[in-house]
Amino acid sequence: MRKPVFAANWKMNYGPQETRGFLLKFLASYPPRDDRTVIFFPPAVSLAVAGFALRDRPDVLLGVQNIHWEEKGAFTGETSAQMARDCGATVALVGHSERRQLFGETDEMTARKCAAAARAGLTPLLCVGERADERDRGTTQPVVMRQLKTGVGRLEKTQLASMLVAYEPVWAIGTGKTARPEDATIVHSAIRRYFREALSGSADSVAILYGGSVNADNTAELIAAPEVDGLLVGGASLDVDTWTRIVST
Ligand code: PEP
Repeated sequence: MRKPVFAANWKMNYGPQETRGFLLKFLASYPPRDDRTVIFFPPAVSLAVAGFALRDRPDVLLGVQNIHWEEKGAFTGETSAQMARDCGATVALVGHSERRQLFGETDEMTARKCAAAARAGLTPLLCVGERADERDRGTTQPVVMRQLKTGVGRLEKTQLASMLVAYEPVWAIGTGKTARPEDATIVHSAIRRYFREALSGSADSVAILYGGSVNADNTAELIAAPEVDGLLVGGASLDVDTWTRIVST
């Protein structure tokens, strides 16, 4: 039985001061529990403050929203996996649909980023998901499987076995529309089958999260869906009371 994972993607919200205030309030109302994992993905400039705020809470993990695949060098504006690690991050979000759609991130770039994360000791959380037009053409599974296979293509088997994946239909992100739990289960099952084959058997260690307009009212039904091991939450993770309700479900 995998522990449910609740991951907060803050996108470009909350600088260091707001991050500190949010986390202190959250930690005060959310006592440590070992039956679930909570992950925060604040903006890169807030990672150090977040790492400090979370230093005594191993049950609450810190992640970086995006990394560059190189370790250092002339890449103005970028953050390396090692830099995020130095701030206390242990997870790296890779291939979020906003990175793909707004910043031209390709499947090959996600593969390099996953590999860079794993090399630096960060667990990659690879996001995959189809656009509305791809869903309407009936190509959800081919699109998701292409993104998945290419994205994990540079990882070793041991790195594959401990990674995280988020199925996030693009049409559900920030739109108030969610996938029906049974539709999420179909895609999650295909992802699980891929890992079973790639790992020659058990793929139980790989957590597959759903993301797309999750809120406090639909959390229970989505997290109960077969093969849904956790949730990646954007907008609803920005309000500390709502987020506390979600992770306490
Ligand atoms: C996300 O940004 O990964 C996301 C799922 O956003 P939202 O919950 O706002 O749809």
